[in-house]
Amino acid sequence: MSSHVCDVLVIGGGIVGLTAAWRAVEAGASVVVLDPSPGDGATHAAAGMLAPVMEAGFGEKGQARLGTASLALWPAFAEALERAAGLPPGAVGLETAGTLALAYDRDDLVALRRLLDLHSGWGLGSAEIAPDEARLREPGVGPRVAGAAWVPGDHRVDPRAVQVALSAAVAAHEILVRRAAVSLTWADDAVVGALDEAGTAYAAGTVVLAAGHASGSLFAGAPTRPVPGTTLRLAADVDRAPAVVVRGTVQGRPVYAVPRPVRPDGTREVVVGATSDERADDHLTRAGDVFALLRDVRALLPGLDDAVLLETVTRSRPGSPDNAPILGWAADGLYLATGHHRNGILLTALTAAAVDQALGVAPDGPAAIAAVEAAARFADPRRFADAYSTTRGGTA
Ligand SMILES: Cc1cc2nc3c(=O)[nH]c(=O)nc-3n(C[C@H](O)[C@H](O)[C@H](O)COP(=O)(O)OP(=O)(O)OC[C@H]3O[C@@H](n4cnc5c(N)ncnc54)[C@H](O)[C@@H]3O)c2cc1C
Repeated sequence: MSSHVCDVLVIGGGIVGLTAAWRAVEAGASVVVLDPSPGDGATHAAAGMLAPVMEAGFGEKGQARLGTASLALWPAFAEALERAAGLPPGAVGLETAGTLALAYDRDDLVALRRLLDLHSGWGLGSAEIAPDEARLREPGVGPRVAGAAWVPGDHRVDPRAVQVALSAAVAAHEILVRRAAVSLTWADDAVVGALDEAGTAYAAGTVVLAAGHASGSLFAGAPTRPVPGTTLRLAADVDRAPAVVVRGTVQGRPVYAVPRPVRPDGTREVVVGATSDERADDHLTRAGDVFALLRDVRALLPGLDDAVLLETVTRSRPGSPDNAPILGWAADGLYLATGHHRNGILLTALTAAAVDQALGVAPDGPAAIAAVEAAARFADPRRFADAYSTTRGGTA
């Protein structure tokens, strides 16, 4: 059995794990990332909405606070990442253009108004506008839409571009090992490393568990579950594609269209999503899901009928029992960065600030302090301490 010693061992190389790895490298640590297929988890499917407002549902005030705190960090996070990766400004596709929310029929409008009331009670900015005003903002809005709202504070980024930038930012350090971790290594009550599938042992001062929905199979105190979802990628002529994020409900079913920047050939990629299921992770796209997403998005944006269907992709969000992230120390030597569920892209910037603090780097400015405080309050892994008081191993 060979062995490897490092300061920080990160298990999982999705957007969360690579963010932790990048922050650790920046803090001067020696780092290893274990992942058999980095970037091919939920991050590969994500649309990239940065939407603390429209994602704030009933009973989710804590998550709204986490999301708002994270969004405030995104511009500086994107800029620092692009610089570290040697990429030009704008390379990760952060766009702060706001979001249009649509209600297809009268019942959808009733539900939208209830949500707007909730937002107003929580101090989140969203306001009802008439369908005609929605068409001024986005000419492609269909003729049958019953109502709309403008959400100035919900934005977007390109998760695949962020993953590429994170990979570039750590590339020179050659930290990536394309193997799965099979177990954590314990000494008394502390985690001191992990074992990979080839039998290599890693000894580390800190292990960051960021294996997405599979985290729970390595540590019962990270009780994650897969929440599979499908997104579609379309290519649409620029005059038929939305220029801002358009999301809505069609007879109670949620759907969204997230545009990427205009390409040299005059088209935009538009990400349409997303389904959400409670079943095993199998990466398989159901025909009915593709049908339902296209049926509903064309009800809101009929111009997308002419778009080319480029790709369907199904991956699993890392859900937790209360659907809030699991971010913080769970044992000596074990830091959890998982359970980001449907807002992991949004919460990446907050995760970076929390990891910085865990590695002894003081939060840089009031927004980072607020993010770290929100993480401690609403994402503390110790809320699941009962799950591992009798067992340290995995749940699966
Ligand atoms: C359809 C869909 C749409 C979404 N849209 C949005 C959105 O618009 N906005 C938003 O904020 N969020 C969105 N999300 C959620 C977001 O994608 C996730 O919360 C986020 O990607 C989680 O990142 P992660 O790195 O924790 O997990 P993942 O990206 O799943 O990465 C986990 C990594 O761990 C690796 N791994 C697993 N087991 C092991 C092991 N034993 N050893 C080593 N490595 C292992 C995997 O190979 C994988 O690379 C969406 C998710 C889905 C599925």
